[in-house]
Formats: sequence, C-alpha cells, structure tokens
Amino acid sequence: MPILLVLFVTAACLPVPWPEPPLGLGAGGAAGLTAAAVAASLTAATTLRTWAVRRLRRDPNSRARVGRVYGRLRRLLSLVNLGLVGYAVVGLGWGWAVQNTLTVEHDGWEVLAPFAELAVPLPYFVLLAAGWVVYYDAEKALLAGGRGFPTRLGYVLGHVRFLGFLLALPLALYAGIQALGRFAPEVAGADAFRLASLAVLPVLAMTMPLLAKPLLGLKRLPDGPTRERLEALARRLRFTYTDLLLWPTHGTMANALIAGLLPRARYVVFTDRILDDFPPDEVDAIFGHEVGHQRHGHLWLYAAFFLLSVVDLTALAVWAQPKLAGWVGRAAAAEPWWVMVPTAGLAAYLFLVFGFLSRRCERQADVFGCRSVSCDDPGCEGHVPDTDFPAGGAGLCPTGIRTFVRALERVDLLQGSDDPAPDRPAARLLRGAVGWLRAWQHGPVKRRVGFLLTLADDPRRERRFQRRTVAVRAALMAALVAVLVVLGEAVGWRVLLSAL
Ligand SMILES: [Zn+2]
Ligand SMILES: [Zn+2]
Repeated sequence: MPILLVLFVTAACLPVPWPEPPLGLGAGGAAGLTAAAVAASLTAATTLRTWAVRRLRRDPNSRARVGRVYGRLRRLLSLVNLGLVGYAVVGLGWGWAVQNTLTVEHDGWEVLAPFAELAVPLPYFVLLAAGWVVYYDAEKALLAGGRGFPTRLGYVLGHVRFLGFLLALPLALYAGIQALGRFAPEVAGADAFRLASLAVLPVLAMTMPLLAKPLLGLKRLPDGPTRERLEALARRLRFTYTDLLLWPTHGTMANALIAGLLPRARYVVFTDRILDDFPPDEVDAIFGHEVGHQRHGHLWLYAAFFLLSVVDLTALAVWAQPKLAGWVGRAAAAEPWWVMVPTAGLAAYLFLVFGFLSRRCERQADVFGCRSVSCDDPGCEGHVPDTDFPAGGAGLCPTGIRTFVRALERVDLLQGSDDPAPDRPAARLLRGAVGWLRAWQHGPVKRRVGFLLTLADDPRRERRFQRRTVAVRAALMAALVAVLVVLGEAVGWRVLLSAL
C-alpha cells in the first residue's frame, strides 16, 4: 500500500494542466464540491465506527465477527477515498482550482507558488487524518487487550509520524525540484542538476533507514533472551547489520521489515506485537524472512528496478508523445481524461511488473525464512533443544517449513484476512478484487503457504524455483536495459537527459 500511496500522491503533484471544474463552476465551486465529497466519505467512516462500537458494547462476544466486518469495510473505504480524491482532482476541478488560485507573480507571469502542488492531494490527507480521529474509538474497542492503548492524540500522532516518514522527504524533494524549475529554469535545466536529481532516488533509499529511527520512534531492541537469540541466529546465518530495532505500536501492528542497502545502515525492525505475541521459533522464522531479502539482494534489485524504470518510462513518454498525438488527433489530446493516461499507465506498470517481481522475491524470502529455522535432515519430524542447525541457512526440513508457515498464518490472522468467502457472487468478486489489491506486493498468504508446503514433499522443487527466479530477475533487468538502449538511440540521449 505505501508504494501505491506514494505513486498516487506524486501523480497528483504532476505539473499537468488539470481539467476545469464542470458547469463552469470556477475555483470556489470546485472547492465546494470537493469539500462535499470529503464530508460524505467522513460520514460513512463515522457511521462505520459508531456501528462497530455499539455492536461491541451490546455483545462483547462478537469481537471477532465485528472486527472482520469493520476491517473489511474500513479497507474498502480507504480505497474508495483514493478514487474519490482522484475524481475530485480530475472530475470536480480541484486540481484546476489549486493551479489557478495558489499562484504568485514571477517575471510578469502568474506561476504556481513553491510547494503549492502539494495542495492537490491535500483532500486525501484530510480524509486520512480525520479518519484516524474517527476510527480511534472502534480500534480501541476492538483491541481491548489491556496493552495500554494510546490516547486519541497519541494514536493520531503515531499514524502521522509513519505517514510523514514515508512521504515528507520524497515530497519535499520533488516539490522543491518542481519549484526550482518554475523559478530558476536555468539552474534546473543544467545537466548536472538533472543527473543530481536522478541520483536523489538511490540517496533517498540509503538515507531513509537512518531517518526511520528518530522519525518513527524506533528503539534498540532491549537486551534479553530475544535479542541474544536473534544475534546468535544472525551470526549463524552470516548476516551483517547495524542494529535490531523495536517499533512500539501499542500492539496495533504485527509486522517486521528490513531496511538499508549498506551494512553500515542496515536495520531489521520488529513491531511490539510480533515480539510479544509470537513464539520464539516463529520470531526466528520471521527474522529469517527479512534476512532472506538481504541474502538474495532484493533491496539492490528493487533500487535498480525503480531507477531503470523511471528512465525507461521517461524515454517511452518522450518517444510516444508525438506519435500518440498524431494517432488520436489534437482534439482528443485536449480532452480532460487525456492527462490521466500516463498516470494510469505508470500505475498499471507498477502494479503488474513490480507486483510480479515483488511476489517472486517474497517467495524467495519465505524459503529463506524456512531455511533459517531448518535442520540438516530433510525427513526430520521435530526439533529438540539440542538440534543442530547448519550455518548459513543451508538446511531445509519439514519442521522448519511448518514453523515458518505457522508464523505467516499468525501474521495473516492478526491482519484479519481469514474470512470465509461470502455467498453472493458480486460480494465475492469485490472481496476478491480488494484482496488482490492488498496482496499485489506479497501474494495471498494461502498461495504462499501452499507453495512452501509442497517444498516439504519434494526438495527438487526448491532448486527449480531458485533457478527460475534467478532467470526471471536477469531477464527483467536485461529487458529494462535493452529498452533503455533502444529508446535512448531512438529519441537521442541528449533529448532523453533533458527530459529527465
Ligand atoms: Zn518480505
Ligand atoms: Zn528439522
């Protein structure tokens, strides 16, 4: 979801001329319509919250069922919000209103004020923030676990912090570069500046982990049996890192992640819920999954993929623009929906190509997670305190696989995705679509589990899978480089560089 969010927000900030409001309403009318849409969505959120709180008060035993329905509707509503704000920007004239109101005079021209493009996705942030305030009561009622749920302010600030960490720096850099283009085009047009702004991507990827600690309030994983065990496991897996971190979320999140391209700034982060609620062998397996991402070079792969994709897509846009304009004619090019074509294309590309790559890599990390808690014996029937685990994650045994699967299913359960399928076909279709959208980066847990369990029966499958994955990755990168060379030659490298 974070990647889609970053994409959505960046698309909203693009320097395209957004269509005028309908019925000649003007900026005030567009703002009014947008405010009405935001109010309608918040009313729906409040209704959902009130329903959940009342239902739980009347029947505390219905927690599991209420939690499922509430979680599903809340996720659906958050997707609706994305669509709603997208529609406000394009269809209700909100984007146009921002571009024509927040201007300053520069050299005798009215130009968009610095950072004013950030007001285009603003309704979405309003919906998000108001949503946290509204949903707080339902979240608190649902998670009556006595873990010291935060105050409403604490809850909202926790979310703001996470969102700020994800978006603040990239957006500030992006809007800063745009502002420079408007107010100092001679600086922004220089080759050195263009290359530097392209280099921002990898630099960002390397510095974000350093910022995560202060911005997200991450703490060093305290000394104790868990830390000792994980440190020993890291040594056995020959994994180098800077620190193991704890992410305090008041038990609201069950997640782990790895960040950092370089060992100097490489962290593995666990949320409190994982460390508190998961048995030690499952925490080890989850740690193994994160180590697997590093072992298989996924972080570098993603960085290279995004960098190449940005350059390729820019080259494609430069190459296709005059041709497309010729094909569909100037009339169609002036249609309002036209501005959505590149954005929709970018979303589809990310969703399909990055989704595919990411699901493959998750599977690879899953297998390494199994290996990290596996012994040498492919026919083993259980582990005892003095079981010998091979170094470097060299073993793969049925017990290790089952341990990892248990951990995966527990995370899935806590994230509330274990519902029985609904009866009505339309509801099933909608649920399937939302489920797929949620799983586009990791793949549905059922499928991941199914795949891992087949490895227990036939170890040759694993070798085949690894070989295929190496081939797929190499082919994808080779294709991206080939596209770059072909398009670069076609449009000319100078033109491409100045378009970046
Ligand atoms: Zn992963
Ligand atoms: Zn074993």
